[in-house]
Amino acid sequence: NERTFIMVKPDGVQRGVVGDVLHRFERRGYKLVALKMIQAPKVLLESHYAEHKGKKFYEPLLTYIGSGPVVAMVWEGLNIVSVGRKMLGATDPAKSEPGTIRGDYGIVTGRNIVHGSDSETSAQREIDLWFRPDEIN
Ligand code: ATP
Repeated sequence: NERTFIMVKPDGVQRGVVGDVLHRFERRGYKLVALKMIQAPKVLLESHYAEHKGKKFYEPLLTYIGSGPVVAMVWEGLNIVSVGRKMLGATDPAKSEPGTIRGDYGIVTGRNIVHGSDSETSAQREIDLWFRPDEIN
């Protein structure tokens, strides 16, 4: 069964978007199999965002995601990776369609509320990074 890693970023947590994110995935019919609130250590963020190392937004990105607790989740169901990405909206909230999470809550890429894995391969990598096997149901 396909799984993906979804994270409400610190700005989403501060703005009280967690409940809505949960509700959107639940009402779509997806199954929540893991959930935790965590202040991510820097090493975890460096590993999570390794592909962006060296880019000009890399350090600000680590500061942003490390600025407060995040809510990390694993969701399961048919085509969850691609449908999940659609539900989040475009990376740049200014280009996200209304009705998507970013399109309903965001305006700038540097504060884009949520993260979602972009492929089944990165989903597996990210799930392994953020959760121990015994934390997943
Ligand atoms: P995410 O991985 O968070 O779901 P994404 O896969 O849609 O986002 P990526 O291109 O992988 O987008 O970028 C990862 C994150 O880095 C973005 O979600 C955003 O928070 C940040 N980011 C990307 N590009 C920029 C930029 N030009 N300026 C500021 N932040 C950026």
